[in-house]
Amino acid sequence: MKITAAVLREINKGYSVEELELDPPKAGEALIKYAYAGYCHSDLSNSKGFTKMKLPMVAGHEASGVVMEVGPGVTKVKPGDHVASAWMCPCGDCPECRAGMGNICSGTFPQFVNGTMLDHTSRLRDAKGNTVLHGNFVSGFSNYTVMPEGALIPVPKNLPLDWAALMSCCIPTGWGTVTKKANVQPGDRVAVWGMGGVGQNVVRAAAARHAYPLIVVDIEEARREKALKLGATHFINASKEDPVPVIQGLTNGGADTIFECSGDPGATVQAYWALRASGKLVQVGIMGEHEVAPLALTFLVFGQKTIQGVLYGAIATRDDIPKYVDLAQKGELMLDTIIEGHFKLEEINDIRERMERRELNGRWVCKFD
Ligand SMILES: [Zn+2]
Ligand SMILES: [Zn+2]
Repeated sequence: MKITAAVLREINKGYSVEELELDPPKAGEALIKYAYAGYCHSDLSNSKGFTKMKLPMVAGHEASGVVMEVGPGVTKVKPGDHVASAWMCPCGDCPECRAGMGNICSGTFPQFVNGTMLDHTSRLRDAKGNTVLHGNFVSGFSNYTVMPEGALIPVPKNLPLDWAALMSCCIPTGWGTVTKKANVQPGDRVAVWGMGGVGQNVVRAAAARHAYPLIVVDIEEARREKALKLGATHFINASKEDPVPVIQGLTNGGADTIFECSGDPGATVQAYWALRASGKLVQVGIMGEHEVAPLALTFLVFGQKTIQGVLYGAIATRDDIPKYVDLAQKGELMLDTIIEGHFKLEEINDIRERMERRELNGRWVCKFD
């Protein structure tokens, strides 16, 4: 069938919105009609070549929609189901999956970076008949796609579908990191660098865990109001003042846990120096593969500190995303505050440029007809 999609063909050139040919789902796959897809900071990073994804690919890894058709043997979803599209599809049988870490599954990681379905082939071709790849199984910026059923998470039909799209990336990454990996306790002194979609969910989750103080650091003053509304107790504009001594003062010596959600190496260095003894720096933001954060690790040892990387909130997609759906429906996630606006697929390059200029202060979600 003919579909319309935003294709990333070259780094630093933006997206080309094209008509593509999509093959029907094969065994274990489903055809999805997308309703919404969020524009994540990782989309911007991918478009700049910060992480090495194979091109050309249909971009987008945070999407929701309706199952239209299923291939042979599919049991996890059926036509008519509303779904969030997860960007990890745990194989269930690699050492990581067997150890309960499907979020870093090595069994399907090659397909994740190579942009194929689980059988190592693509369902997409362009007007010249050349293969186009799938963005991290999801290919969110397309009106239709094919997904492996193991990456599809059914959601209730009364959940707004733009909220459901955020269930694919920024919500589980933020909430899982705070609750499953960092295990923030009431009264823990917490700081968060970066108020993008993930950072905003980290703040909500840390507020739900009663972190105090809960300090947000960002370089855009425009994000102060939203950070405080989402539950931060303090906001530091790092373009105006050095956040390290301010945090040391507010926390009587440094934060217990710091979440670095911006992916900026300089932010990681600042966050490192703002830790107290035995504190933990949780790196969530993804730097470019060519970037380095210079850290004086002498003080990691003397202060017995920890640096921890977390991917996808360390969640089990099929078990944890439904819990976040319940919390969203209870109002805990404040998604109407986190979602700043909707856009049309044709406007994706404008959204990309506005994110690069740091003009977006919340999630922007592509709406399909
Ligand atoms: Zn993302
Ligand atoms: Zn696996």
